[in-house]
Amino acid sequence: MDSAGRARPSDRFEARHWDSAQDELLAVLQALIRLPTVNPPGDEIVAARFVESVLDEAGIPSTLVEPAPGRGSIVARLRGDGAGGRPLLLLSHLDVVPAPPEGWTHEPFSGDLADGYVWGRGAVDMKDMVALELSVMTQLAAEARAAGRDPASDPVPGLRRDVVFAATADEEAGGLAGASWLVEQHPDWLAADGCLNECGGVSIEVAGGRFYPIQVAEKGYAQYRLRIRGSWGHASMPRDDNAILLVSEVVTRLAQPGEARPTPLMRAFIESVARALPRRTAEVVASILDADARRSEAALAQVCDPASAGALRALVRDTIAPTIVASGVKTNVIPGEAELYVDCRTLPGTDDVAMRAELRRRLGEELWSRVECEPVLLGPAVESPSDTQLYAILENTLREHDPEAIPLPVMAPFGTDAKHTTRLGIPTYGFSPLRLRPEDRFLELFHGADERVSIEGLRFGLPVLYDVVRRFCG
Ligand SMILES: [Zn+2]
Repeated sequence: MDSAGRARPSDRFEARHWDSAQDELLAVLQALIRLPTVNPPGDEIVAARFVESVLDEAGIPSTLVEPAPGRGSIVARLRGDGAGGRPLLLLSHLDVVPAPPEGWTHEPFSGDLADGYVWGRGAVDMKDMVALELSVMTQLAAEARAAGRDPASDPVPGLRRDVVFAATADEEAGGLAGASWLVEQHPDWLAADGCLNECGGVSIEVAGGRFYPIQVAEKGYAQYRLRIRGSWGHASMPRDDNAILLVSEVVTRLAQPGEARPTPLMRAFIESVARALPRRTAEVVASILDADARRSEAALAQVCDPASAGALRALVRDTIAPTIVASGVKTNVIPGEAELYVDCRTLPGTDDVAMRAELRRRLGEELWSRVECEPVLLGPAVESPSDTQLYAILENTLREHDPEAIPLPVMAPFGTDAKHTTRLGIPTYGFSPLRLRPEDRFLELFHGADERVSIEGLRFGLPVLYDVVRRFCG
């Protein structure tokens, strides 16, 4: 029961039922991890075909697309009676980042179950959510069949909106062969009143409080190639306009952390975390927002683990990270040219023009005059409203399943396929519910070695996601 005494939709089934659904969820996740869909090149088609077979077995028709060889995405739909509005979109991506085997205690594509975890690349980013969303789809289809209906054509009993499932290729490289392609070629397939996507709804402990940040916004990206011009010369006569010296000066100036500019969302996030904590801790948390960088840093060091502190630092400023540098042709030649790639992550309100102006300000006019700056990839920051019916359901459902939960809207420091769904005007929330223990170190596992997800955390997530879908679509 929730605090108002309403039964949760998931309570209609006995614990035994959820136990076996959760076992199946684990098996689906293991199978997905064992299909390496490393991007590049992607090869998501193998995972898309596997998802197709799971949907097919549940009687759910699906459409598999392959806009480029091997780049498979899959879309499926369960019907509601249509009286409740436009669909809910359950979005996920099938690709994973590379997994160099060093540092792993289990093979990166083993899908091993050990020590309370499912191990392997994709366990948290984001085959866990593919499996969760797929499990909700098969659960709903089973309910339709149990009521004598055909999930391929008849409305699922109690659903007033359609539920659309989309697992896409290429998220890790910007989504051009996946979500972006679907948004451009088949916007009608994805049209929805709300979308659930990766990353949020995962518990983190801060000073004894259990918070569930729900991602309503994400930073933008602006990647640039800088060409730095010096003068060619003989290495026997060193010169100050050696392009390697110039590029190292550029890197030094860009590497300084910029000034903090908390957006209203992030300010509210930090203030709400502070309000939920005992007074002395609250004061420390609140001083994360202190304009004095030393006080802000001291507060971060006191209340956050290094990974959360890194995320919070990135969430209150535009960041600049030099990522690739190249120069030089021969040991005895002073290079007259250098190339530097920088990856900037932008807050809402910082566009390409503003970001370039910041690079120029950092370098100063003299150094800037030697630089040619060309954008490589641009994606704006996006933000969805947190005053929607769907968002309220996310918070309430978490509180029902974990009475100590403190859900809060937040921004993500990185980009996801929400960049594409928000182009269709679909409020998109990062919500892949997991209840974790502090030692599970979720943030550090993203793209890291020994990526794994807590089995108990996943088990918690399934009825939560099911209740969200039932509530929003019921
Ligand atoms: Zn991801």
